[in-house]
Amino acid sequence: MKNPSVGTLADLRFWLVRTFVWRFAKPRFITLMGGPGAGKGTVATGLAPELGLSHASTGALMRKEIEEGTDFGMQVKDAMAKGNLVPDHLVMQILERTLRAPQIKGGVILDGFPRTLEQAVMLDRLLSSWGVALEKAIWLELTEADLIERLSMRRTCSNKKCGRTYHLKFDPPKVADICDDCGSPLIQRDDDKPSSIRTRLATYRTESAPLRTYYQAARKVNKRGIKCSVMKVVVPNNLMNKKQVLAKVVAALND
Ligand SMILES: [Zn+2]
Repeated sequence: MKNPSVGTLADLRFWLVRTFVWRFAKPRFITLMGGPGAGKGTVATGLAPELGLSHASTGALMRKEIEEGTDFGMQVKDAMAKGNLVPDHLVMQILERTLRAPQIKGGVILDGFPRTLEQAVMLDRLLSSWGVALEKAIWLELTEADLIERLSMRRTCSNKKCGRTYHLKFDPPKVADICDDCGSPLIQRDDDKPSSIRTRLATYRTESAPLRTYYQAARKVNKRGIKCSVMKVVVPNNLMNKKQVLAKVVAALND
């Protein structure tokens, strides 16, 4: 018999997690939705430790692959920079890899996924093949004008390990263009530039409507006795306080 490959060991480890961890401590799968710039990343980052969950941003994972120049990164680079959607099969590939990682024991908050109806269906299938299900889709609702303002004012730390984001008006760095946390220069992400913003919003408008309908219709009780449904959280633009938005999301989750 041949030595088991690394892939086989990863499969075995994941099988052990599913069988011995997930069966007794049910993992929670929650997704945060909303237009580009709605603050999904910020909310997910704050929410994950509070609920004891991991945070997975497919966007951040793909940007990391691009940064590292992997084959996968090369495949998604163009679409990402232009603000277009990355093909579903590629997003699913990175998502599945992430969800199988050992740190996802207690469950995960997905941020920026699913983007399309097809991805939502694929996610349901994937989770169901593992005997688990999506618990809730939380929708951060902002007006389009607010989204545009947020995106164009957003600056991101150029240090990939930090990646903190700032808002020039509501959450500026202490020293202009320098990250408070790590001292690296702040940059404007390519997809936060005006031409990309327009494309991203148009894509969001087209793709999000059927997605919302899908989750609203998905009020069926799944195996765990949980109803998956859309919870709408309205975020007024003046409500920039992270704690306040977080409190609204927690309330929606407990609803
Ligand atoms: Zn930084």
